[in-house]
Amino acid sequence: MKIKKDKYLRERGGTTKIIKVSCMKCNSPIFIYQKDGPGWLKRCYLNRIIESENYPHLINNIKDISNLHNLKCKCGNIIGYPIRHKDGRLAFSLIRGKFKRSPYKVKK
Ligand SMILES: [Zn+2]
Repeated sequence: MKIKKDKYLRERGGTTKIIKVSCMKCNSPIFIYQKDGPGWLKRCYLNRIIESENYPHLINNIKDISNLHNLKCKCGNIIGYPIRHKDGRLAFSLIRGKFKRSPYKVKK
């Protein structure tokens, strides 16, 4: 697992943390996410998803928003929907109360 250090990180002040996003309803892990900068998690950029056991296709660099579907847990809970951010990056807009975040310990 590798933290991405790029212009997006620098623009957010250079601080980052790794969090685990999971389903509020059934507790299944959704993905491991690199959160840059401070603040609440409102959207998840695809280029910040570090690892996803259940949604490996998300990491394969989807370019077209029509190839991106609602982020849905296997239990049926819809966690987010696809958006294109103003900087051009594809992301999921997350629905508050549908997911939970927890700190993720990076194994060294
Ligand atoms: Zn679920």
